[in-house]
Amino acid sequence: MTCYDRLAHQLATTASGSWGEEAALWLLAEHGHWLPELHRVGLIMDGPDHDQARINWPGTESSQDDFIGTNSEHQVLSIARALVHQNFRVGLNPSELDEENRLLVLHAIAWAAGGRAWAKSLGLLRGLRCGTCDRSLKSWSGKDVMAHTRLHRPDIEDATRESV
Ligand SMILES: [Zn+2]
Repeated sequence: MTCYDRLAHQLATTASGSWGEEAALWLLAEHGHWLPELHRVGLIMDGPDHDQARINWPGTESSQDDFIGTNSEHQVLSIARALVHQNFRVGLNPSELDEENRLLVLHAIAWAAGGRAWAKSLGLLRGLRCGTCDRSLKSWSGKDVMAHTRLHRPDIEDATRESV
């Protein structure tokens, strides 16, 4: 598990209740580029306790010149911001996305519109996924999958840990 998997979980926990923000955070975590980049630029703030974190969304607009990213990556960030603000009157060009990212974006838009369960029912996501948060587990090691599962269920035993 990377530190960004834990961060994604903290962000999702903090956003619970807003479909638009939940969907935006899932999209950024799943896409992979933006959590490290937003963290690098200082736009992810820790909450009062360490189980919480928040993205400075206005900062993602005003700090655009500081970001490193391709046009396709910037499209994903713009779409995430639009989901949070429920405002699609922004310059989007989804044709710049490859097929994989187009499916992620469609899933996130469906999530923002009707909630996670409804988005999931549309069957847009591919591959092995976490049953709780729909993150892709493709190419994760057994140890990483266990560490991820323990984010959702801290009470379960870590079967990969050596017993003493
Ligand atoms: Zn999960």
